[in-house]
Amino acid sequence: MGNEHPVNPKRLIVELCQQFYAQGWVSGTGGGISIRENGRVYLAPSGVQKERIAEQDLYVLDESGAVLEQPENAGLRPSACQPLFFNAYRLRNAGAVLHSHAMPAMLVTLLYAEAFECTQLEMIKGIEGHGYYDRLRVPIIENTAHECDLADSMAAAIEAYPDSHAVLVRRHGVYVWGRDWVQAKTHAECYHYLFDAAVQMAKLGIGSDASRKPIDVAAPQAIAALRASAAR
Ligand SMILES: [Zn+2]
Repeated sequence: MGNEHPVNPKRLIVELCQQFYAQGWVSGTGGGISIRENGRVYLAPSGVQKERIAEQDLYVLDESGAVLEQPENAGLRPSACQPLFFNAYRLRNAGAVLHSHAMPAMLVTLLYAEAFECTQLEMIKGIEGHGYYDRLRVPIIENTAHECDLADSMAAAIEAYPDSHAVLVRRHGVYVWGRDWVQAKTHAECYHYLFDAAVQMAKLGIGSDASRKPIDVAAPQAIAALRASAAR
């Protein structure tokens, strides 16, 4: 898995938050990542600048959610995402969970009703259990005023879509997990790519349903329409 060298989970969370911030996934203190390893859950505090988190800012919890280690700064509180992260740990035996407020993850929830769907895009193969010709589905749950109130509907969506490794939240973002942090990161990169592709395809009038033959039929039409509108 390319994961041969043991890595300190606290160090990893600090590094991944910096990467995810640069990708626009965790801006404005939103989003984050949690890692579960050897019966311990590592979690960032709530409402902090994710790209500036230090190792001493992180919480360590046991698998029941009890706090084992507090950050040095007593003014911090655990991430509001904690019950959502624990859904993926408990229901999917995940090793890491990521929450993103990326623009494509938010926008794609405005294009689909119950679930995001796509097929015949190469990056689908990066999602465990999926091939190029499979129909990838990601359930969409409705947003709530408080992040913790998403826990029950997220759990229901996880049960209803056993092939999905992610749950989208309408007008909000996405939760993505994997068996370890490597797979969670890979899944997150592939899902973000597919959400972005769907948004851009919709803008081009293509649609992400392969039955519409996006390359052969719809794309030239969309490009012709764009040229026509540009020429006006
Ligand atoms: Zn959020």
